[in-house]
Amino acid sequence: MPIFEYNCNHCKKEFERLVFAGEEGNVLCPECTSADITKKMSATSFMGASIGTCASDAPRQFS
Ligand SMILES: [Zn+2]
Repeated sequence: MPIFEYNCNHCKKEFERLVFAGEEGNVLCPECTSADITKKMSATSFMGASIGTCASDAPRQFS
């Protein structure tokens, strides 16, 4: 199950959401409930695609 990172364009809050298939359009900001959010591509997604294993165990990068 993919966890996506989002950026709220309204209050600038960053948050993560576990999103099931078909629910991507239903994500709201937990802070201000705005739907004006941007999904971010996480570095771990690219890592998992290239390595192929242990994607969920990859260390998180804190930017
Ligand atoms: Zn917000």
